[in-house]
Amino acid sequence: MEETTRAVAVRKAIDVTGIVQGVGFRPFVYRLARECGLTGLIANTPAGVSIEVQGETDLVEQFLARLQSEAPPLAKITSLTPRDIEVQSETDFRIITSRLGDPPKALISPDVAVCSDCLREMINPRDRRFRYPFINCTNCGPRFTIIHDIPYDRARTSMSSFRMCGACQAEYDDPANRRFHAQPNACWDCGPQLQLWSSEGSRVDTPEPVRDVARLLDRDGIVAIKGLGGFHLACNARSEIAVNLLRERKRRIEKPFAVMFSRVENLEHLCVVDDAARKLLLSFERPVVLLARQPGTALASGIAPNNRFLGAFLPYTPLHHLLFSSTKLDALVMTSANLSEEPIAIDNQEAVQRLQGIADAFLVHNRDILRRCDDSVVRVAAGRTQQLRRSRGFVPVPVPIERESEPILAVGGELKNTICVVRGSEAFLSQHIGDLENLESYKFFQESVEHLQRILEVHPKIIAYDLHPDYFSTKWALARPGMQLVGVQHHHAHIAACMAENHLDGKVIGIALDGTGYGSDGAIWGGEVLLADYRDFERAAHLEYVPLPGGAAAIHEPWRTAVSYLFKHYGKDIASLDLPFLKAIDARRLSVVQQMIDREIHSPRTSSCGRLFDAVAALIGVRSAVNYEAQAAIELEMAAHDSTDLLTYPFDLTVDGPHWQIGTRPLLRALLRDMQHQEPIPAMSRRFHNGLAQVLVSLAERIRDKTRLERVCLSGGCFQNLLLFDLLLDGLRAKSFEVYFHSEVPAGDGGISLGQALIAAHRVATAL
Ligand SMILES: [Zn+2]
Ligand SMILES: [Zn+2]
Ligand SMILES: [Zn+2]
Repeated sequence: MEETTRAVAVRKAIDVTGIVQGVGFRPFVYRLARECGLTGLIANTPAGVSIEVQGETDLVEQFLARLQSEAPPLAKITSLTPRDIEVQSETDFRIITSRLGDPPKALISPDVAVCSDCLREMINPRDRRFRYPFINCTNCGPRFTIIHDIPYDRARTSMSSFRMCGACQAEYDDPANRRFHAQPNACWDCGPQLQLWSSEGSRVDTPEPVRDVARLLDRDGIVAIKGLGGFHLACNARSEIAVNLLRERKRRIEKPFAVMFSRVENLEHLCVVDDAARKLLLSFERPVVLLARQPGTALASGIAPNNRFLGAFLPYTPLHHLLFSSTKLDALVMTSANLSEEPIAIDNQEAVQRLQGIADAFLVHNRDILRRCDDSVVRVAAGRTQQLRRSRGFVPVPVPIERESEPILAVGGELKNTICVVRGSEAFLSQHIGDLENLESYKFFQESVEHLQRILEVHPKIIAYDLHPDYFSTKWALARPGMQLVGVQHHHAHIAACMAENHLDGKVIGIALDGTGYGSDGAIWGGEVLLADYRDFERAAHLEYVPLPGGAAAIHEPWRTAVSYLFKHYGKDIASLDLPFLKAIDARRLSVVQQMIDREIHSPRTSSCGRLFDAVAALIGVRSAVNYEAQAAIELEMAAHDSTDLLTYPFDLTVDGPHWQIGTRPLLRALLRDMQHQEPIPAMSRRFHNGLAQVLVSLAERIRDKTRLERVCLSGGCFQNLLLFDLLLDGLRAKSFEVYFHSEVPAGDGGISLGQALIAAHRVATAL
């Protein structure tokens, strides 16, 4: 290095906040400063890193520009503020070691797909990490799933039990090395190792466990493979035998499986892969991306029956790449290793226990997964990424919110639960936790509450919860003594979540469509139009109520809701309607259900939009009983995609006290008429979608006339229905509404914890 005191020297201090720790930021800055011929230093700070650089003005300028444009792929800079400070006498650029105690406010990186540098080394026979399944560097590898506490260093991860060898330690200590302070750094000599276990969980002595697994998969076997955030069950996606066997053993009927492809090219003749989808598939988050299938795909028919979309993703761990390089198979079913709705298995012994009888073998290793994290599921719609399940790769990246808030914990809903912790002006959503009525998921919920608070170093005194008295999350919240509790209506939370991620303030028209949410009047809501801000809401309109015979039983058997709609509009003598779908129902069960409706026994009232989809699906012969959540509605949507019919089924709008009621009588009339004329199912489904979108647009117009509100937020699980989403978006935009929808957080119940948190923040702030 040259001497320091140049003719015109400046010194700047630069504070950088965001995800800049554990992502190779300091070695990057070190190299960049040296390349620019600057002296100075870099140190971790509680909020990120602090840099000082000194040198000629134009070189410092160059450094600043490149600092942002060339930052490591995982770094996420949220702010960067340079200021002039006094020139010092120094000769080099140094990395100052972090002092113990910091950094409490720095952000933890999510898990990241293996990078191309590491992959190059892994396939190089001369490299010391040739075919090493746990190769990683500061730009890639596990993060969130191996951390049990902060600050993020090796001692607080599941790598703490592995002592680095001399070669690894030298890399770790060298600021110029891309493994400088790479906490999971490891190699064949010192790091985690794979093992092959039999179907009973006994160790198989083999030098090549990956090749053995590849051979098993080639022969239609099913293998449980330990990944980043949990175990997968894998099998050949092109083999009918293997896929059917997996369905049988896993007791999973018809619910689509995600498929991992060896390369994006192998996916392109199976699905429509546009630029946006390709970018997502190849992103370091490596989510499962829902893609429209091309006709006549060469995958096993049992992958995603009756579904025109395929959930596809690409290899993201070194092990996935090794596996594909050891087999001729190019597409593997990779589904979360669990039974039905249980959370994904993460522990070796736990996996053997829970997956006995399902897996023919287990490919395990001795690096513990400390945090469960399912694969994330996304799609591209209206030109944006939409999260359907936000987990691995995205958690714990915060969602920025407009205003600083006191710390808040929001505990979410019951199904597809997530929780949310607000710290300052950032909201941290947990990974997908699952359905809390499942005991294992409920334990996972409790662990997540504890863990998220620990790594964020906040202990909120305010807890937001759903109003449903039977939700486990609600009961948990109500049992916290000494906390300030804020109950939030379910659909209000949906709309607030949509407002939050779109940075809206003030009042909006909120269209919240989903299956189930506890209403302020005790009924089950789900087809709601609200006038909402963060503090409060008014119900502006809703689908008219029908009884839901059997409550939750009706969710599994859509024919029940169909009967309820018929009963409402045609009275007791529905048998005389001569409908094919009624004849398929057991006469005794039909009569029981009719009596339940008639006598109002165990038949809560509902305005659910999800149930309306169920009823239509059952009536027109799409499906009367489901094997997985929302199957009838999903298949109804799939049917409509085959039609370009422009007709619409009518609804009526009546004023019911303070709000509008969306009436379904004309809809039922039109449907029954078309059924008598034996109209094709796709056309009927399309007309229903068209009609529903149309009535919601005209409602929004009437509300605008009265309130002058122009902004519409769309939220709720029904917006996973791409056709409904597109029709409503186009319809509203055609009438010059400003339409806002979800992108960063799910439209379904996985997003409501964010809305709950924002509502609580505003209520608490304005109550002072
Ligand atoms: Zn790497
Ligand atoms: Zn080593
Ligand atoms: Zn909901």
